[in-house]
Amino acid sequence: MPEIPLRIAVLGATGSIGCSALDVIEASGGRLQAIGLTAHTQLKSLAAQARRMRPAWIIATDEAAAESFCWDGRPAECELRRGMAAVAEAVASPEVDVVLAAMVGSAGLQGTWAAVEAGKTIALANKETLVMAGSLVMELARRTGARIIPVDSEHSAIWQALQAGRPSEVRRIVLTASGGPFLRHSGEQLANVTVEEALAHPTWSMGRKITVDSATMMNKALEIIEARWLFDVEVDQIGVVIHPQSLIHGFVEFVDGSIVAQLSCPDMRLPIQYALNYPKRCEQVATPFDWTRASQLTLEPPDEERFPALRLGREAARAGGSAGAVLNAANEAAVAGFLEGELNFTEIVPACERVLGHHDFDPNPTLDELIRLDRWAREEVVRWACT
Ligand code: NAD
Ligand code: MG
Repeated sequence: MPEIPLRIAVLGATGSIGCSALDVIEASGGRLQAIGLTAHTQLKSLAAQARRMRPAWIIATDEAAAESFCWDGRPAECELRRGMAAVAEAVASPEVDVVLAAMVGSAGLQGTWAAVEAGKTIALANKETLVMAGSLVMELARRTGARIIPVDSEHSAIWQALQAGRPSEVRRIVLTASGGPFLRHSGEQLANVTVEEALAHPTWSMGRKITVDSATMMNKALEIIEARWLFDVEVDQIGVVIHPQSLIHGFVEFVDGSIVAQLSCPDMRLPIQYALNYPKRCEQVATPFDWTRASQLTLEPPDEERFPALRLGREAARAGGSAGAVLNAANEAAVAGFLEGELNFTEIVPACERVLGHHDFDPNPTLDELIRLDRWAREEVVRWACT
């Protein structure tokens, strides 16, 4: 009997993760099917994806862009919807089996939240959802039975390694970090880096925001918070180690001293494929790692003097409450400011630290409160940049 395909809603289909996901779906031999796709402003790409994947629906989340776009080229049977409310409605539909949350930034929260509320399986790339509202999202998932499977490569590696023991046998989980393009830069050199240099990641090809986050190491800070909620571990149980080759994605240290790691080439198609098919492993789509050739795997501790984002991430993870949402929003605004030439590279993390330090900390915020603080933190960064 042929398998019934798993119907995947791809949120953020035109992005780096979204495009890789469509490759994975296409290579699945009918096991996976794209039931719906969303994009914000890249509507030409979305229309081309609709012709290629034949989904039941597409959603253009930027309503103004959707109004002015000529949709003549989309397949007639593919329904066009508009706006973020349409995403929340679509992911809850019984036609959707798995939601791949791959929008960038806090914009991903609403759709992911709706999927968790509907008790779906969520393949989670949008780490900002857990950074902002990890406690509320995990609590909601417990109530609805939603399953959250990580797509972030480090968390996917740890998820895989955790299967080698029981939760009570875990001593530490460790996230690897490439160190980004400025791993060997002095503090002085860091002050003068350009947008172009920050966007030239040595090992990973990703969207612009996460590429800048990798350069400041804020990406790892966000991943510490993501891991704290996803794996329900104490912050002191989360380690970070620099591994410039990006072959070891993460590991788990068990109480007996055994370390179980996951290795593969830096290619997001593998963790996406694993999350979409979990618990099955399917034939390889991603670039293979050729271990028969001589190669080097090096590990070194991070330098928190030059990359203070890590300390900030740990502080926000420890504080919990509203700290993650404020750090995340401040970072999104500061990165946007850097990309627009309004902030220097070395101003991104201090801007976040300042906003985090003087926000009205709430230990038990509601979702609405987090969304209000998200807006406030962005405005604070803009104010800070203007002074
Ligand atoms: P990207 O910028 O390449 O793509 C983002 C997608 O989100 C696009 O489809 C875009 O249309 C959509 N989008 C942008 N703004 C939006 C808005 N305001 N509302 C709704 N949709 C919007 O980003 P990416 O690199 O693919 O990253 C996506 C997510 O996955 C991020 O949360 C990132 O941290 C995470 N992630 C990415 C990688 C990677 O290799 N790229 C690895 C791990 C985790
Ligand atoms: Mg990662």
